[in-house]
Amino acid sequence: MNLSPMMRQYEDAKAVCGDALLLFRMGDFYELFYEDAKTIAKALGLTLTSRDKGENPIPMAGFPYHQLDGYLAKLIRQGFRVAVCEQVEDPREAKGIVRREVQRIVTAGTLTDDSLLDPRESNLLASVYSIPTSAPSKVGQSKVEGHGKEERTKKPVPMIGLCWVELSTGRFEAGTYPRASLLDELERLEPSEVLVRDDDAILSKEDADRWSLSRRPAWQFGIEEATRVLNEHFSVLDLSGMGWEPNDAPAISAAGAALAYLQETQKVSLSHIRQLIPARVGNSLEIDAATRRSLELTHTIRGGDREGSLLEVLDQTVTAMGSRRLYDWLASPLIKRDAIELRLGAVEELFRDSRGRQAIRDALDEVYDLERLLARIATSRTSPRDLRQVGRSIAEFPKIKTLLDSRTSLRLQQIQQSIEPCPELKSRLETALEDDCPLLAKDGGFIRSGFDTRLDELRGLAVGGKEWIARYQAEQIESTGITSLKVGFTSVFGYYLEVTNTHKEKIPVHFIRKQTLKNAERYITVELKEYEEKVLTADDSAKRLEYDLFLQLRDDVFRHTALLQQSAGALAELDVLCGLAELAVKRSYVKPTIVDESILEIHEGRHPVLDARLPQGEFVPNDTMIGSEHGRVHLITGPNMAGKSTYIRQVALLTLMAQMGSFVPARQATIGVVDKIFARVGASDELSRGQSTFMVEMVETARIMNTATDRSLVILDEIGRGTSTYDGLSLAWAIVEHVHDRIGARTLFATHYHELIELEKSLSGVRNMNVSVKEWDDNVIFLHRIIRGGADRSYGIHVARLAGIPREVNERAKDILAQLEINHLNKYGESKISPPPRQKDAPIQLTLFEWDEHPLIDKIRSIAVGNITPLAALQLIETWQKELER
Ligand code: ADP
Repeated sequence: MNLSPMMRQYEDAKAVCGDALLLFRMGDFYELFYEDAKTIAKALGLTLTSRDKGENPIPMAGFPYHQLDGYLAKLIRQGFRVAVCEQVEDPREAKGIVRREVQRIVTAGTLTDDSLLDPRESNLLASVYSIPTSAPSKVGQSKVEGHGKEERTKKPVPMIGLCWVELSTGRFEAGTYPRASLLDELERLEPSEVLVRDDDAILSKEDADRWSLSRRPAWQFGIEEATRVLNEHFSVLDLSGMGWEPNDAPAISAAGAALAYLQETQKVSLSHIRQLIPARVGNSLEIDAATRRSLELTHTIRGGDREGSLLEVLDQTVTAMGSRRLYDWLASPLIKRDAIELRLGAVEELFRDSRGRQAIRDALDEVYDLERLLARIATSRTSPRDLRQVGRSIAEFPKIKTLLDSRTSLRLQQIQQSIEPCPELKSRLETALEDDCPLLAKDGGFIRSGFDTRLDELRGLAVGGKEWIARYQAEQIESTGITSLKVGFTSVFGYYLEVTNTHKEKIPVHFIRKQTLKNAERYITVELKEYEEKVLTADDSAKRLEYDLFLQLRDDVFRHTALLQQSAGALAELDVLCGLAELAVKRSYVKPTIVDESILEIHEGRHPVLDARLPQGEFVPNDTMIGSEHGRVHLITGPNMAGKSTYIRQVALLTLMAQMGSFVPARQATIGVVDKIFARVGASDELSRGQSTFMVEMVETARIMNTATDRSLVILDEIGRGTSTYDGLSLAWAIVEHVHDRIGARTLFATHYHELIELEKSLSGVRNMNVSVKEWDDNVIFLHRIIRGGADRSYGIHVARLAGIPREVNERAKDILAQLEINHLNKYGESKISPPPRQKDAPIQLTLFEWDEHPLIDKIRSIAVGNITPLAALQLIETWQKELER
């Protein structure tokens, strides 16, 4: 096809942007062509038109350039990748067709624009490298895979490399993880986009959709290529200086591919990405994906909102950087006692010093999002306003440093030392920039007068020139006697003198006619043109000079990137610590005592989210004593709605909060550090994911059985509910035995199977607890108080009543229950369940319990045959038959 030069340029641009939609800048519009035009017209509801309306019309759609941000946000949210092709020379100076270049490819994981990002949330790009299945089996010997020697002796656990990078702040981390934990890690990171090798099927279709997958060429994940890209970027000969080891090859592969992707899509300096930090497995509290969801750490189960989550309660930060840091702390709590105590010590000091804390928070409130500002400066996507905000933020540093003087907490001292005041940069930005700076550098008007003498001169000339023109107009009126004469300006003709036709006769000869209007003529003079030249060039030169000064200032800030990033990090942490102290004061939390023993002792603990939501004093506090003489497996029985789930979640949340360095809602708490938290709470939401609830429940429970340790905390809610009663009860029973005998984890098991209370008799570490209820006039009142001992019944029918089940249904249910209880309770009212004896070391095998024989048999046995007539016997047989038919 015979393409116009511009469409040829379009085709060239299209060739470099892969599957991204191409926004092609044409004057004041971004246009899309061909299939892209059809796609965007549908996605954004734009009108589809066509170009070259002749024989081969080209479908076209577009929007004005100033609407880019809004449309980009919509497209990214809909999962598109978008290439932005700009005009890279001034159309007025272009010879022939304007040069254009694809300047960046915007994808969900690579956003930097403030308008497209939520300030309180990180926006991560993740990259996953799994070892190709066709790779040599002796991976230990392969440099590419680089695993340790243990591979040769035992069956290797398949590993993956996982990297996460945030372009908008420069954070860059990676680690090598067991393949099975990939989804847990993704759930922890919540990346906006995930890169995988194009031939890799590690993520299922559903997971791929959920995490917005982008496929990348396999060679970019090769260890040699990945190492080369990273070494080149960091200008190092090898990565060991950053703490990387030969065993980390999968992580390096993932990181190299991520960096290559950023280079390819961003086409700018990525120099704010200053190091690749190794994330070591086992350095933080392990929380799997299901647990994160069940505990509603960052989102609620229903609705997926931040509101109602633990994060929302904990977040009292005043900066966006602090808010994002808090999320990280919550996503990865600590497991080393001294590290936890370091944070707690800082929170405690800020907790006690309300005045100091308030002063620090006030100062932090003036600090802008330095991490993102620095990233925009490094990627050259910055504005005068950004620089001004950097200046304003630095101005707060000395104040904050002084407020941290003579602190006793080691962490606060460290933070104080990490803040670098950069006084020269601060004063330079202050003297250079106006208070209100624009978003566009090209239009000028943001450098203060007095900062640069050349700029002041040019501005003077531009202003002076305008004054001259006013004077010139007055002079011309005077000399010609034409009172209506005026000087005007158009961009095409420049300055002119306009004279209405009534004064035509009075025009002097040196007026040169330029344009004829309906009632007037426009003229120029040599003098006027000379001045016009000066004014216009002065204006232009001033703007150009201002732009140069802007670039210089930007480079000044850029040179300070390392120091400013370090200070920003310190401020983010300070903000989190102050926020946690603020929360502790507001909601009367206490500092937990952290110990290494396997115990949990909480006095008057409260569920942090419910406590914040319910009116003051309505939440009923509860004690928790787990470990040593208090038993390590607690069975909590009680009716539905009594507060079992709330209570067991509360224990998990308090433990987690303590390990992230927060005070806890309780009167007193001693927390023995846990290595993993598991929560299996409710599975109804999983139905939408296509698996049966029961299957999901069992898969998750299996995982707990297989991975929990004696240092873990396990909370289980209503295990076995998704199957028939006896099935479920048997499973629950066997699970408690296993957790007790084989795992030894601190465990809270909430169940409505009150039969399980029998377990306390045979298992030394099991304790029965129940949620007390008051029965009153055939109703139940929930007291929400956990007390020692098992519940003797389930109260399900009473609860059904409260929920509005019709009275007849309820009455009938009561009859049936009574009948069942007669059949399954012995004469002392105890359950007749008697599970087969356990052999402690035998492999665990689930056996169904032996249930009692049918009640009719007892009746038959009790008949004295000699005392009964044949007719009575026949009648009896008839009643039994009827009984059996019921
Ligand atoms: P269960 O798991 O026993 O069915 P939940 O834990 O779901 O019960 O609690 C039911 C409701 O009772 C919750 O929605 C909550 O509002 C309330 N609740 C639970 N525990 C308490 C408490 N300690 N204090 C006050 N209200 C509570």
